[in-house]
Amino acid sequence: MAEAVTVEAFGRPRIKPEHRAYRTVDGNVRVGSVIHGIGAEIADPQGWVWTLVEAMDGSRGPSEVVAEVLRTHPDLPGEDARQAMADLLAAGFVDDARASVPVPPREEDRYSRGVPLLRWMDLAPRTSPWDAQLRLRKARVLLIGVGGTGGHAAQALVASGVGHVHCVDPDVVELSNLNRQPLYRESDLGRPKVEAAVATLRALNSDVTVTGERREVARPEDLAELVAGPRQAGRPPGGPPPVRAAGRDAEHRTSDGRPGHADPPSGTADGPGRAVSSSMPAPALPPSRYDLLVLAADRPDAIRRWTNRVCLAAGLPWVDAGYRGPLVTAGVYVPGQGACWECLRDGEIARRDLRLGPGQDPEVASPRMPWNPASAVTAGLSGALLAHAALALLTGVPAMEPGFRFGVNLMLPGDPVHQRTPRHPDCPACGERA
Ligand SMILES: [Zn+2]
Repeated sequence: MAEAVTVEAFGRPRIKPEHRAYRTVDGNVRVGSVIHGIGAEIADPQGWVWTLVEAMDGSRGPSEVVAEVLRTHPDLPGEDARQAMADLLAAGFVDDARASVPVPPREEDRYSRGVPLLRWMDLAPRTSPWDAQLRLRKARVLLIGVGGTGGHAAQALVASGVGHVHCVDPDVVELSNLNRQPLYRESDLGRPKVEAAVATLRALNSDVTVTGERREVARPEDLAELVAGPRQAGRPPGGPPPVRAAGRDAEHRTSDGRPGHADPPSGTADGPGRAVSSSMPAPALPPSRYDLLVLAADRPDAIRRWTNRVCLAAGLPWVDAGYRGPLVTAGVYVPGQGACWECLRDGEIARRDLRLGPGQDPEVASPRMPWNPASAVTAGLSGALLAHAALALLTGVPAMEPGFRFGVNLMLPGDPVHQRTPRHPDCPACGERA
């Protein structure tokens, strides 16, 4: 998890503005905002905890904060005040008011609403909320599919400042796409989606790199090639040349002209990143040039299973999302950490008790139609959940334990969707004998 951070590392420790404390009627101190999963309540019978949080307003160094508490509570051991400050810091309620902003003014302005949200949700002790944003800046994402789900997700990832998004899609824009696919206009009808998508996304944020290729995933080998990294030369037969951005792409190039990491992959420090536990078999594919695969395609039928296998083999984290009518879900998978997609799917089939006979295909319970019913709402939710899963894995904010699906059922808004099963030792994809 996060690096050890001490009180001394915080020049001007400050209760995060989003976590501002208040006093309850019975004299306790509530800090962290009244949101389940963030906030905490501290008993304060002597009243000095309140003095402490008030003193941590960013105007004092750690020793001055302690001195301020002791000024009004002279009998308190100084060590107690210092320890309480360290506890608040370890719980993620504190940042450093003096931390510098490590990005140019233009990016500071662009991300001036998103970074405070990261700060709000981040419960790892960090002096600067920009750490998470810098991880996004370094991140490289492979996005498969730029339709409804993928288009909404791409918009969110590019707007949020993910450093490089590579889009893959074989289709052209059709009129029936326009009820839910936000990257396209009527003027794009007949145009390859990936071309229009890349143009729209570049227009949204020229501070990041957006590339794309028109390509169909027709077999697992296609995915393995995409995961390995952008092609050096050539192009899929009949497809257009790869669409490339200028700008920041240049700094990602290695001496042989291939895109490469200017920085280590994000997430290796304290995000989940590509950490593969020792219980995993050694990856059978070379490490990916990407930090994350974002799957927003539902064809061919086996694409999720293929993606699961390829990402396990490459040790690459991945996320997916989609809808079945009014039920919208997203999944979060990191090789070696928790259930893989197949573990989870098998667990979910068992849990749902579909009352199927031996050998009966579970797919009969979920009819697939050539027209996948979807609206701007379901595609928007699906893409937003997908982007949230991707951003959380890339930044570690909020911290997630991979191997689960979450979502919403529009028929029952009060009924949260959460699927989690343990990793299955006999799983054909990630189990011992895989
Ligand atoms: Zn598995």
